Amino acid sequence: MSSYVPVPLHIIDLIRKKRDGGAIDPREIAFLASGAADGSIPSEQLSAWLMAAYLRGLSLDEIRALTLAMRDSGEKFSPARLGKVAVDKHSTGGVGDKTSFLVAPIAAACGLAVPMISGRALGHTGGTLDKLESIPGYRTALTLSEFETVLEKCGASIVSQTPALVPADRALYALRDRTGTVESPGLICASILSKKLAAGLDALVLDVKTGSGAFLRKREDSEYLAALMVATAEAAGTRTVALLTDMSQPLGRSAGNWIELAEAVELLRGERHPVSEDLRELSLILAGWMIYLGGQAESPEAGYQRAGAALASGSALRVFFAMVEAHGGDVSAFDHPVSFHKPGATQLLKAWKSGFISEMDTTALGWAVQRLGAGPEKVGEPVDPHAGIEFHARRGAHVEKGQPLATLYATDAGRLAEPIALLRQAIHFSKSQPDHVPLVSRTFIRETAEAYLGMAPRQ
Ligand code: URA
Repeated sequence: MSSYVPVPLHIIDLIRKKRDGGAIDPREIAFLASGAADGSIPSEQLSAWLMAAYLRGLSLDEIRALTLAMRDSGEKFSPARLGKVAVDKHSTGGVGDKTSFLVAPIAAACGLAVPMISGRALGHTGGTLDKLESIPGYRTALTLSEFETVLEKCGASIVSQTPALVPADRALYALRDRTGTVESPGLICASILSKKLAAGLDALVLDVKTGSGAFLRKREDSEYLAALMVATAEAAGTRTVALLTDMSQPLGRSAGNWIELAEAVELLRGERHPVSEDLRELSLILAGWMIYLGGQAESPEAGYQRAGAALASGSALRVFFAMVEAHGGDVSAFDHPVSFHKPGATQLLKAWKSGFISEMDTTALGWAVQRLGAGPEKVGEPVDPHAGIEFHARRGAHVEKGQPLATLYATDAGRLAEPIALLRQAIHFSKSQPDHVPLVSRTFIRETAEAYLGMAPRQ
């Protein structure tokens, strides 16, 4: 009889190993993920390991093992009983990024199931869950059977990680937010894909941000992240595509909580606004890919057309409202979105110069939004549903001195000064028109991702 007894693992050894640049094996990674999930590893030690991983980096093997261990840290959802192809979209995080509220109902209106597990505010970026919770009554933490019921009824459901669903990401996500360890390609990949793979998706569209408001600002870093996530998700059996998209300015005209939902619903209602056009276009492109990968269109372009039709017919709006009601949300808030919006203090910021808006430090704009009250200062602190910024002009536009640039909405007047200073430093003007930046600059599918990473082609 074999007397093999596995060597016990100790978190202190894994911290020291990563700190010194060593490789963590799959058993050690599974130990870390389960210790994060069940709380048996204290936060200070998890934080130290995260910082070591951030500074030393993670190999492809470590990233793949961490993704799978985090996916397996809790219950998993199986969409098989829904009888529909399950697709989703996830972004690497941006400012004003509210495409989920458009693409989820659009794809569902086109016959797909969208089981979307999302996150809260992270660093300078807003959280889909915080935005949804600005709708009175909306519950983001559902049990798996409630999740399935909403999906059966509406085709789309947007929920949070819970102590049962991807609990390792729930713990590590909150710690990364507090410890300056968000901007790591391996940790971002594992965080996003653990949630997506736990939802049992057939196909996934990744919106990988690049530019001044992205976690990885440099183009080559964003490309690496896109390739990494596509290769990791494909190796785990999910058909995946990643689009590299512009985050050199906020997406759409609002960044905050309620005001982002109001803007999304405006578009779902078929209304148009010049400062919201990039949001509308990107949502249709992403939804087009979801519809194509879900087998409901012959090409991403044909998917784009179907997505446009779902917006125009109002079918996506009906799915969105049905989803909100199924989550306990009160859709009457959308009857008069402007009167529902009750910020504690408001201030208009006017252009302090004439010229073209040439550059926006979008990360600084994101911090301004968070500090107005839209993001938590401390862990678990409630966020202000009414805080945020509405932008009146886009990068590339010509403005005259004194013209409105942005309206800031704060919890109270005492919170306005720092965000105004941040905006004045973040927005730059020039005499000549800046270069155009494309909304989507590159697409990665499995083959291009594997080639980018220098992986041998799979048979
Ligand atoms: N979204 C996530 O879910 N995790 C990250 O790390 C970044 C964006």
